[in-house]
This record gives sequence, structure tokens and C-alpha cells, in this order.
Amino acid sequence: MSRVPCGKCRFYVAYPFHETLGYCSTRSEFTTCSSTPCSEFKPLSLEDVEDALAKHGFVYCLTCRSSLTNLEEAFEHLSSGHIVNLQVLQGEGIHEEVYAGD
Ligand SMILES: [Zn+2]
Repeated sequence: MSRVPCGKCRFYVAYPFHETLGYCSTRSEFTTCSSTPCSEFKPLSLEDVEDALAKHGFVYCLTCRSSLTNLEEAFEHLSSGHIVNLQVLQGEGIHEEVYAGD
């Protein structure tokens, strides 16, 4: 098994107010970014990022703790090995309409 952390999964939802805490939109439970991925793990693809940018207007780099608003920028962060999340937990609600389970 690779050592890719949970945070690199496309289903991982970053929680900007906490360094390692995140939310798994597939299993509907909280997780941490560095934990071992579950069997639902799917690595982020550039297509996913493009899709998320089109739908939400931004993706989130957990490493830099900043929002990325274009594909070029997102690609730079990804290619530097940063953890980029498609979704961010906002307040109480979770925007999971894009990658909601089943
Ligand atoms: Zn970054």
C-alpha cells in the first residue's frame, strides 16, 4: 500500500479552522488528514480539480491554508506535493452535492 494520506483523497473535506481535522464525504464522518485512507480512497485528479473550480469557484490548499481559484494555481500546488481539497467545511453546512456518496 502507498503511504498517501487520507487528506489526498477526493472525498476529503478540509476544515479550515483546524489543522488536521477533516470530514469524509463518503463515510460521513470526521477524519484526520494524515490518517490511513479507507477503502473508498480515490486520489484527486486534475479533472476533479477542474470540475470543483467550475462548480465552486475555488479549491483549497491545506498545506498553504489558502483558496485557489484557478487551475494553473491548483496544479502548481499539487505538483509541489501539497494537499489540495475539493471541498471545504463552511460553518455548519457541508457542500457535498458534487461528490456525495452513492
Ligand atoms: Zn499549497
